[in-house]
Amino acid sequence: MTNKYIVAASILSADFLRLKESIAECEAAGADWIHVDVMDGNFVPNITMGPFLVATFKRATQLPLDVHLMIEKPERYLEAFAKAGASHLTVHVETCPQLPETLKQIRSLGCLAGVTLNPATPVSTIEPVLHLADLVLVLSVNPGFSGQTFMPETVSKVAQIRKKLDEIHSSAYLEVDGGISTETLPKMKDAGANAFVSATAIFKYPKGIEAGINALRMSLRGTQ
Ligand code: ZN
Repeated sequence: MTNKYIVAASILSADFLRLKESIAECEAAGADWIHVDVMDGNFVPNITMGPFLVATFKRATQLPLDVHLMIEKPERYLEAFAKAGASHLTVHVETCPQLPETLKQIRSLGCLAGVTLNPATPVSTIEPVLHLADLVLVLSVNPGFSGQTFMPETVSKVAQIRKKLDEIHSSAYLEVDGGISTETLPKMKDAGANAFVSATAIFKYPKGIEAGINALRMSLRGTQ
């Protein structure tokens, strides 16, 4: 059974020395997806992980691997990530001159096709490809590092995209990523998001991973 609202645990904030246990804790606590932030030191200043680690995560979990590619020329690596076990591949509009073809390529690899945009990039840039997307990701921080402060102006961007997805009767996930906590999550939910990536609020939650995921679920119900 799939939850109506998706909680995606961003592995970037996990303790990599106890990765297997952390992933198992996420799974047991009811996380829906494992979100993987791939950075190339080019499109964003940081360097994180590649297909090899995605394949390693795949061995540790049954959960879908939601792979967010913050890399230049992502089309070169789509097949490698799909083979490694990615379930979703999300590319940045800023890095894809042939965005419709790239999204079609992702679908042809058997993955859900995701598109995303930086906080400074207008919604109009992705509008022409919304019908080709299974997932639209809105970044609520500038990409590059976890633990950044949420940008409140991105809430209206989510509402704008929700409206456009509804207009074309799209059932694509509308996912948000960056600074998502029990305070910011309800605002994004009210604006129309239905998938929530959280890193710090899960892996650095003072009472542990399970309590962090429970707190996010509680904030979804509006009981907190
Ligand atoms: Zn991400």
